[in-house]
Amino acid sequence: LTEAEQDVLERIEAENVDFVRLQFTDITGTVKNVSVPASQVEKAFEEGIWFDGSSIEGFVRIQESDMRLEPDPETFAVLPWRSDGDTASARLICDVVNTDGTPFEGGPRQVLKSVLEEAEEMGYSVSIGPEPEFFLFEKDDEGRATTKPHDSGGYFDLAPKDLASDVRREIIFTLEQMGFEVEASHHEVADGQHEINFKYDDALSAADNIATFRAVVRAVAEQNDIHATFMPKPISAINGSGMHSHISLFDDDGNAFADEDDEFNLSETAYKFMGGVLNHAEAFTAVTNPTVNSYKRLVPGYEAPVYVAWSDVNRSALIRVPDAAGASSRFEIRSPDPSCNPYLALAVVIKAGLEGIENDADPGDAVREDIYEFDSEKLDEYGITTLPGSLDSALDELEDDEVVREALGEHVTEKFLEAKRADYADYKTHVSAWEKEKYLEKF
Ligand code: GLN
Ligand code: MG
Ligand code: MG
Ligand code: MG
Repeated sequence: LTEAEQDVLERIEAENVDFVRLQFTDITGTVKNVSVPASQVEKAFEEGIWFDGSSIEGFVRIQESDMRLEPDPETFAVLPWRSDGDTASARLICDVVNTDGTPFEGGPRQVLKSVLEEAEEMGYSVSIGPEPEFFLFEKDDEGRATTKPHDSGGYFDLAPKDLASDVRREIIFTLEQMGFEVEASHHEVADGQHEINFKYDDALSAADNIATFRAVVRAVAEQNDIHATFMPKPISAINGSGMHSHISLFDDDGNAFADEDDEFNLSETAYKFMGGVLNHAEAFTAVTNPTVNSYKRLVPGYEAPVYVAWSDVNRSALIRVPDAAGASSRFEIRSPDPSCNPYLALAVVIKAGLEGIENDADPGDAVREDIYEFDSEKLDEYGITTLPGSLDSALDELEDDEVVREALGEHVTEKFLEAKRADYADYKTHVSAWEKEKYLEKF
């Protein structure tokens, strides 16, 4: 066993852990668990744990279904909401490997790792600071989720209007117990909407953290008998939930995005990376915004991006450059939403940026006007394109983009397109409440 693995066994002993959940995500980002008694963890480190991959969305066919989970000892954490003082449950995030021990190319964590290896070969490590937003809703008498907000606070409101702040505090406390460094949390614009920002981290840890974060928020909300949702646009005509992500690259000299002589404190490397992100934004949107509902958030007027442009001031652009310099120089991509698979989403955005560095991509000038107000002539004049308007067209864009396909790998690309096309086909033929209300009595 490695030293890190040995440490995990000691902590299991010291903290009376009796069960360990081995976690990984399927291609839609759903967290999967295999629970093993603590006594099996040593064996799991040595040989991995076998499971049937054919029952996991987007993994393998029945005839080749044996797969193995290899726990990453760096991801050990006790689950505070599953611990009662006497015994505790813990989790380990796993990589998925084939029977012959090679990494499984269909595992989302592996997809991100491969892109990060490319970054490393270019001399960079990637830092990500995610800002997931979510809603807390009441449940009905039967315990089903409603869309009735749990409070009626507004942006940055404090108690007593922000009744959910107790729940939010409990969420943050739980995250901290699990090793998160929470930097900020606040009530968002909409009733019942919240945002919690945790400290930036290397991209792999950031993706692990996002997956963990969603599980913690749901578990703590559940304990308080309310429903937490990361659905991108739960209520029409009200701000949706995004997951802005702050990006920077580090090399041996520090922040490779920093240049104090530049108007926006950004380096050539940062602009090229940004150029790559803008060039492939339409194609990676299917991955950063992977649900039918995601496209109801990406509309003008709700602080969500619609246009492929960058800016230092306005929030209608896809990329915003915050006023920061030196070690903090970075930019924020505003399109991802928290229904994405965080591993795949970070993989495609980072890959697009790296491609931009390699090909000297040009992001154009900052757009300082409110792009929501632009007509199509003005958009043309500025060379600004729009993000796909539906999951359907986003999938078409993805299918045609070699760089994004390469980031995902052939296996995930195929499985992802298949699963999402099926979702869209289902949605397309569904007759909605809106239609019935509009037409049932009229015609
Ligand atoms: N909720 C907005 C979105 O959909 C963002 C609001 C904000 O953080 N200023 O992205
Ligand atoms: Mg924020
Ligand atoms: Mg926000
Ligand atoms: Mg933000």
